[in-house]
Amino acid sequence: MAKVTLENVTKRYPGGVVAVRDASFEVRDREFVVLVGPSGCGKSTLLRMVAGLEEISEGRVLIDDLVVNKVPPKDRDIAMVFQNYALYPHMSVYENMAFGLRMRKFTRNEIDHRVKEAAAILGIGEFLSRKPKALSGGQRQRVAVGRAIVRHPKVFLFDEPLSNLDAKLRVQMRAELSGLHRRLNATMIYVTHDQTEAMTMGDRIVVLKDGFIQQIDDPLKLYDRPANTFVAGFIGSPAINLIPGALTGPPWVFDAPGLQASLPESLTHGLALTGGTPVILGIRPEDIASGDGGGAPLDVVLEVVEPMGHETYLHFDLGSVRMTARQVGAGHYRVAERVRVTLLLSKAHLFDPSTGSALRS
Ligand code: ADP
Repeated sequence: MAKVTLENVTKRYPGGVVAVRDASFEVRDREFVVLVGPSGCGKSTLLRMVAGLEEISEGRVLIDDLVVNKVPPKDRDIAMVFQNYALYPHMSVYENMAFGLRMRKFTRNEIDHRVKEAAAILGIGEFLSRKPKALSGGQRQRVAVGRAIVRHPKVFLFDEPLSNLDAKLRVQMRAELSGLHRRLNATMIYVTHDQTEAMTMGDRIVVLKDGFIQQIDDPLKLYDRPANTFVAGFIGSPAINLIPGALTGPPWVFDAPGLQASLPESLTHGLALTGGTPVILGIRPEDIASGDGGGAPLDVVLEVVEPMGHETYLHFDLGSVRMTARQVGAGHYRVAERVRVTLLLSKAHLFDPSTGSALRS
């Protein structure tokens, strides 16, 4: 298997769009790295540069220790799975998987061995003689992955491979691909706009916005210590509440329309703060409890109630900020009801409003 290194990679498309700006990171041998961000952030471009499908404007891409900037895709020893599986409709499943190997002049025996091995791994052995149109979406998706597996590539690249599947199948295929990663022990780079996919599948996640890398971390670090308001807002669902306000003190108090709250020492410890500093306080919906205790109490009027069964989302206004709280269970809340909630401030995050960056000691 292999590692992939990006050194100061930039992509400028003709016409002036800079899709990726100065990206540097390493995908370690056997690691599953997810590139995630909203549509247009440059994640597909980044993946396609690793694949060799887009020219690199500046910087270098290395596979193991070889600079591949000028190496054609077919010689990079990578396999890519696309969103629209791109199966050949007139070929059987077997032929779809065998095709690339035939082009590379593998022996008939080796091809047969590899196709059957991949089919067994993916549970599609019984469909080998079918044409793609006689398969379900999930089965087609497995054939597309099978076509990559038979190549025994150094690196697997996935470009939104689950976006065409319905929600339930997506969840199932997500787990299957994670299992496949463990089983093949392969280096994988996976592109998605879906933060849940990123969080559940990635060993590490690269968060992108407007072509810039925002943060590279493992899933729980991204959740617990987001580098800025963008990452904080992108990771986690429903999204974190971001309340603009100011600090007074010491002792430090967060002041915002409708809220005056003493901040726990654990939140401000080691920060270089001055009184009157504008800050954004971030608090996740799951860190707002119902009732009293352990934080800053607030009496609020519910504007929207979303019962999910196992949990309930409560929406209310704090000054001009629409807030969301996530409560476990059904709760039987009503719109326009007045309820007490508590912001668990020991779990809050502080950001600098001028840069969006997290305040760090
Ligand atoms: P993502 O995969 O995150 O949705 P892309 O990498 O596809 O984003 O695109 C990043 C930016 O580059 C977008 O602004 C997009 O419009 C632009 N872009 C993508 N492909 C081309 C192209 N072939 N020519 C010009 N601009 C492009």
